[in-house]
Amino acid sequence: KNQTILTRSELAEIDKKHYLHPTTPPKLHYLQGPSTIFSEGKGVYLKDIEGKERIDGVSMLWNVNLGYGNEELAEAAKEQMLKLSYSSSFSGQSNEPAILLSQKVASLAPGDLNVCFFTSGGSESNDTAFKLARFYWKLKGKPERTKIISLEQSFHGVTVGATSATGIEGFQNFTTSNAPNFLKAEAHALEAELGDKNAPNYSRSIRGVIEAEGADTIAAVIVEPIQGAGGVRFPPEGYLQAVRKLCDEHGILMIADEVICGFGRTGKMFGVENYEVVPDFLCVAKGISSGYAHLGAVVMREHIREVFVKSDEMMFHGFTYSGHPMACAVGLKNLEIIERDQLVENSRIRGEELLRGLKFLESNFKHVTQVRGLGLLAGIELLKDPENGVPFDPTDHAAARYTEICMNLGLQLRSFDWKGTNTVALAPPLIITKKQVEDMINIMSDALIAFEKQV
Ligand code: PLP
Repeated sequence: KNQTILTRSELAEIDKKHYLHPTTPPKLHYLQGPSTIFSEGKGVYLKDIEGKERIDGVSMLWNVNLGYGNEELAEAAKEQMLKLSYSSSFSGQSNEPAILLSQKVASLAPGDLNVCFFTSGGSESNDTAFKLARFYWKLKGKPERTKIISLEQSFHGVTVGATSATGIEGFQNFTTSNAPNFLKAEAHALEAELGDKNAPNYSRSIRGVIEAEGADTIAAVIVEPIQGAGGVRFPPEGYLQAVRKLCDEHGILMIADEVICGFGRTGKMFGVENYEVVPDFLCVAKGISSGYAHLGAVVMREHIREVFVKSDEMMFHGFTYSGHPMACAVGLKNLEIIERDQLVENSRIRGEELLRGLKFLESNFKHVTQVRGLGLLAGIELLKDPENGVPFDPTDHAAARYTEICMNLGLQLRSFDWKGTNTVALAPPLIITKKQVEDMINIMSDALIAFEKQV
């Protein structure tokens, strides 16, 4: 009964005319229309309008962690919409789902990360953390601490603040101007962060940037525990701990962008738990609602809240949809299901199987290399000649071509062809079964056979 009455080509024509798409070349889209029109999803499977079924091997945008068509989440949304469809959290007003979700998130977050500010997504969460970090310093009588340091190749979102923090060049250069007081440091420069002044990249490390700028001008450092859109890049061992220590040395606040890692993606509830680090702010979105509602949060430590509540200053910050009752009801149910069905544990175990499968591909196929993964977050590199470190020509768009083949064979993945890398990202829903992981690897294997014939 939900069947559309329009054909695919009719929908595509409307799309071309009226719909400007994110991270899509407008010209190409205007000429060609949508590459896929999705119409249904159930569990880890997606169907497009032509009826072709695929495994979603990347949880769409690393967010559909409970998979599609979850009836309990749909029920939670419906029930809350009928009970109280909307209420504001301004002027001290509140609602039950938001109150309970703040308690739930506080109970799951490590250390004394106990206080939540709700947003509608990851960019808003990061922008909120930047503003709250500056608000904190203002209240502490150090308004000159304004600068935010982030890493090259990072992705923190697309609002003005989040884009200014984002390291991936395409996003930085999209428009003519970004916000001031955002500084970039080389990603994962472990030796330098540990204080080795002879490290070749010392001046470009977070430590080097802090020293050059003066620690008393820096409000916060933001890092993803594992870089996602930058190409599923894992930090070297000890890196996050070194950044935490560096921030402590200089009294700088540490923000962890857990928008991808949060709520089980890495086989722990939060990415930072793999590194035994407690940031001052922890930004979440995506997995907090498994994509069933627009929801994000900034979780902060007690010492941040203490500074806020000692002051008489107003919180001149907040979104119409901060603490949206339906979104929070869905978030709460989502977290209950993750705990009840032990999906963090499933992420860890299935992740090990996925990694084994990817290593099998690496040892059997010439172009696959640098296989890495933690929980259900994994990446591979495609190189023309891994033995001699020869990359594909950038014009080959090797990863995009490979994921296109996977798509045709029934598996949705994501590709990142930038800065001389050809990365394929994997992040299937946390509900995935052993058999479905095997199916993913089999499809990837068939796709590699086809890819080898093409290149
Ligand atoms: N931070 C990270 C690490 C992300 O991967 C993303 C989105 O992919 C964001 C922030 C932005 O989140 P949103 O698109 O919900 O604004």
